[in-house]
Amino acid sequence: MSSQLIRALLLALLSMVIALPVGHFIAHWAGWLVFCGGLGLQMAFHFRNFARLDRWSYQPIVDAGLEGEGAWDGIFGRLYRHEKELRSQIAERDDQIVRLFAALQALTDGVVALDFNQQIVYCNTTAEEQLGLALSTDVGQPIVNLVRQPEFVAYLTGGDFERPLTLRSDRGSDRVLSIHIVPYAGNRRLMQIKDVTQTDRLDQMRRDFVANVSHELRTPLTVLAGFLETLQEIDLDKADQQRYLDLMAEQSKRMESIVQDLLTLSSIESAPPPCTDVVDMSNLIDKLRRDGEALSGGRHRILAENDGMCDLRGSEPELVSAFGNLVANAVRYTPAGGTVRIEWKRTPQGAEFAVEDTGIGIDAKHIPRLTERFYRVDRGRSRDAGGTGLGLAIVKHSLNRHQAQLEIKSAPGVGSRFAARFPGSRVASL
Ligand code: ADP
Repeated sequence: MSSQLIRALLLALLSMVIALPVGHFIAHWAGWLVFCGGLGLQMAFHFRNFARLDRWSYQPIVDAGLEGEGAWDGIFGRLYRHEKELRSQIAERDDQIVRLFAALQALTDGVVALDFNQQIVYCNTTAEEQLGLALSTDVGQPIVNLVRQPEFVAYLTGGDFERPLTLRSDRGSDRVLSIHIVPYAGNRRLMQIKDVTQTDRLDQMRRDFVANVSHELRTPLTVLAGFLETLQEIDLDKADQQRYLDLMAEQSKRMESIVQDLLTLSSIESAPPPCTDVVDMSNLIDKLRRDGEALSGGRHRILAENDGMCDLRGSEPELVSAFGNLVANAVRYTPAGGTVRIEWKRTPQGAEFAVEDTGIGIDAKHIPRLTERFYRVDRGRSRDAGGTGLGLAIVKHSLNRHQAQLEIKSAPGVGSRFAARFPGSRVASL
């Protein structure tokens, strides 16, 4: 029996002990009055405390405390402590939940939690943006009502979540998502969503590149094999033999150029950032003019303009290769009698190297793709001119490594201008 109950009984007994002699010696009614008065006082005391507890229970204020009287003091104290503990536990949990949600929001991957009916319980902002969801309105909605692509619905309902699903966006973008579903807490599902657009694009580029290289090398190889067979099987006279050998040498030279350009590209890609050694631009421009003249064989007017104000900081072999490619293209794509102008000048932003020609020009629709590997406007013309389709890819890569931008302006039948713009950090004043 609790001490409070014993105390209440003792007080009732005390009232009785006082009431009995009063009833015996004074009058019965007086005894009852004392006894009832004692009990009444006790009840009033308990009611007062009970009312206090009742009021407090509606709005338990832990800071103000809860003070009881007599036996109630202990009860109130325990209740008060219990309430305080509970509140601090709840506050700690709230804090943990807030931090957990903040961590989920900070994830660069999308996260969507689904209940056992595949309805949305939670999603972070990344997932909202990836799947076009809105947490405020979509909570409780079945995910398949919002992401309706059949392959996603089949993946979700199929139940085989060993591998992620690659989903191409059907919302007007070329975004590619990798969605991996992980079951949790029994029948519930957690969707982890990664944006793999870039990786997918790189994969596609790699596949295209391998296919292009194979194709580019197969053509001269087939021609070579054909000539070899002819030479082995047919008894040709000396002149024909020589003609065949010349054609074979041309094809093997072509393969050599392709392999050389591929090696150049790969060495640029894996090379450390270019140095900041000063490249003497007067010498370089002079060399480019001489090389251009050699390639032209007197068919073009090759001009060089150098304002003599600055040199360039960077890797000389890379810059020679990039600028050389631009000059060679200008010569190769300019009919005889045309002009090729090589320019080097200081600009307010840094410096500019440009090659301008009066050649065949390029239709505007091709310009954005010119620096792609193996992209040519006219495949036959490029081949006849000894091109590999890798020249401008090498140029763009080398320039990027020197923080330079390539600007191409061209008009069919009028000519082209390829300009490399270098920032001030790459310029060495004279
Ligand atoms: P290629 O080895 O075929 O010349 P590039 O990458 O150097 O390859 O150039 C890509 C394509 O851009 C060329 O095939 C050609 O069609 C076009 N091109 C490049 N430079 C010029 C130029 N100066 N005038 C006209 N067309 C050009």
